[in-house]
Amino acid sequence: MPIVDPNQAFQGRILIVAPHMDDEALACGGLIARLSQKERIHIVYATDGMQSPKPVLPMRFTDSFDLAQLRMQEAIAAMEFLGITPSNIRFLGLPDGELAHHKQALISLLKEEIKLVNPENILVPFRYDRHPDHVALNHVATDLYQHCKLKFALIEYFVYYRWRLLPGGDVRRYVPPSSIIQVDITSVSERKRAALDFFKSQTTKYFAWQTRPNLTTQILDEVSLTPELFLRYDQNVPGAALLTRYTSWIRIAHQLEPFLKTRKDQIVALLKGEFLQNGTRLE
Ligand SMILES: [Zn+2]
Repeated sequence: MPIVDPNQAFQGRILIVAPHMDDEALACGGLIARLSQKERIHIVYATDGMQSPKPVLPMRFTDSFDLAQLRMQEAIAAMEFLGITPSNIRFLGLPDGELAHHKQALISLLKEEIKLVNPENILVPFRYDRHPDHVALNHVATDLYQHCKLKFALIEYFVYYRWRLLPGGDVRRYVPPSSIIQVDITSVSERKRAALDFFKSQTTKYFAWQTRPNLTTQILDEVSLTPELFLRYDQNVPGAALLTRYTSWIRIAHQLEPFLKTRKDQIVALLKGEFLQNGTRLE
């Protein structure tokens, strides 16, 4: 797994496409902090972020509070902290959790963005990320890469790489190490962690009905203290062809993981027995 100098490996304009506000910081916060000439970094968020945090039990549902607005503010503040000007940030506002059903809209919006920014590098989530929106975004970007007349390098980043159903628990272990590049973030570790702290709706129990924050201390520590990994997309090694082993299982487990996670969260919430605190916001 070669360790690269980010300013050598990521030259020219960079477009980071994030499904949700926080994915860019979780997977690329260290990279952003280390890159020079921040004005060449652009960030586009595909969804409105309205489903996170999401009540795991329907009786607790509330949509009275404008979560989208809050998450946009958090993202802008976090990225400004890392040196990105708000004029380089765009929100596409597609429905959170539904990207797979809005691929056409996403394609045309992304095309516009690519024409506008004309990036040398486009960063998107890994093809077998655990979140369905991340996977949908990867598929759209891969499609664009194959058919777009504009030339850019497509790079996959890793957000939810921890899988319960996979031996070793880390899907990155199933990608050939030679195709992954590694960015050492030791020098900017605290900066990345501080950037993540701007996402209060994710790092705290923001609503009274939450049993835990979406981003736990354990996750925040791990992503701030370990290198960031990236994968350069190669048309000759698409989809599951990239995986070294357990290929069939990874394809199945990848469908099961989000489902099992939701079920587990529901059971935990039921056990805690907080049915009646319907959508109270913590101040
Ligand atoms: Zn996400």
